[in-house]
Amino acid sequence: MTSTDPTPSRVLVLNSGSSSVKYQLLDMAGPTRLAAGLVERIGEETSRLVHTPLTGGDKRETHGPIADHGAALKAVSEELAKDGLGLDSPELAAIGHRVVHGGLKFSAPTVITEEVMAEIERLVPVAPLHNPANITGIRTAQALRPDLPQVAVFDTAFHTTMPEHAARYAIDVETADAHRIRRYGFHGTSHAYVSRETARLLGKDPSEVNVIVLHLGNGASASAVRGGVCVDTSMGLTPLEGLVMGTRSGDIDPAVTFHLERVAGMSTDEIDVLLNKKSGLVGLCGDNDMREIRRRMEAGDQRAVLAFDIYIHRLKKYIGAYYAVLGKVDAVAFTAGVGENAAPVREAAVLGLEELGLAVDGELNAVRSDAPRLISPEYARVAVAVVPTDEELEIATQTYALVRSGDGAEGRGV
Ligand code: AMP
Repeated sequence: MTSTDPTPSRVLVLNSGSSSVKYQLLDMAGPTRLAAGLVERIGEETSRLVHTPLTGGDKRETHGPIADHGAALKAVSEELAKDGLGLDSPELAAIGHRVVHGGLKFSAPTVITEEVMAEIERLVPVAPLHNPANITGIRTAQALRPDLPQVAVFDTAFHTTMPEHAARYAIDVETADAHRIRRYGFHGTSHAYVSRETARLLGKDPSEVNVIVLHLGNGASASAVRGGVCVDTSMGLTPLEGLVMGTRSGDIDPAVTFHLERVAGMSTDEIDVLLNKKSGLVGLCGDNDMREIRRRMEAGDQRAVLAFDIYIHRLKKYIGAYYAVLGKVDAVAFTAGVGENAAPVREAAVLGLEELGLAVDGELNAVRSDAPRLISPEYARVAVAVVPTDEELEIATQTYALVRSGDGAEGRGV
């Protein structure tokens, strides 16, 4: 696009939490990232806004109370205005919102209408921590720019293609359906982006490759993607199922919860906190940061060694399971904080899987880079890749494509 082209090409991406808002402003004509930032501790005296202009200029930090999400977005707009990027600009084409739970109805990005908002509200019981904050973020942005299309990009959307035999729990069907209990999966925006970028790295179309994506951040999930379509993923009704995570247990025998209630006398809320906040790596060894765990392992700390071994054991089980689900695997892709940075995790996860065609080249694995790259030796039948995720770019791309296509409120997903 040239400067004389009147088509607005900027997209603001908002990721609203209960007391925080993360944002990025992108120009989709490039695409070019224009600015990024974070408002934290909204509603407290000690709120903080960290703003990074990405076309030149230094990071700016402001402290002081920010009462609510409306005030936060206003403060963000003021920061952006200092760089000539204010949100009142006619250059802004749309606002893209990360929405965690879209249930089964939303299988694609969707222009937000009141009907869409009502459905996101209806899903609050299955995403009590996330959907209310997302709703607040959308309402705030609508108040700021009522004239603009607002688009919801759902964390669950990429997984709506899972077949029933992968999505259903083996429990009474009537009970499950009455309460919408099934496996939805999360991190979908990342799994979609990374599986596509992995195909690109292999020089193939996504429809031609089968990929196991390992999104290993503080939250972690695996997915099996056949020809660009998700056929299984490790998170379920909530983001608690699956891999060992920073603070979440991942898979456990559900009877552990009955036991905690009946024998340990814990309440449902206490068990919820235990499994979501005090388990996983932090529960096993007191640290959830893989850097610190590696440092402790090198110092001979046996609790850290055991935590790492449990983490890797679970990861390996999922690689094996998804290998079996897919039948033929072209690539295993590591992404997110741990997956992109922790070479020892990548090495340990595929160690001993040579018979499956999986191996890691020590030198390639040790390279630090922000670029998508292969870390498997040439002889390996299955490519092992590190593919940095970019959920903001994916949200912006999907948002912009939807508003440019003119596929409106009745959109594909509703
Ligand atoms: P994310 O949720 O994707 O932001 O990932 C955050 C996690 O990535 C942190 O909790 C760390 O465990 C991990 N991480 C980030 N940088 C590194 C690194 N250089 N080496 C190992 N782990 C890292």
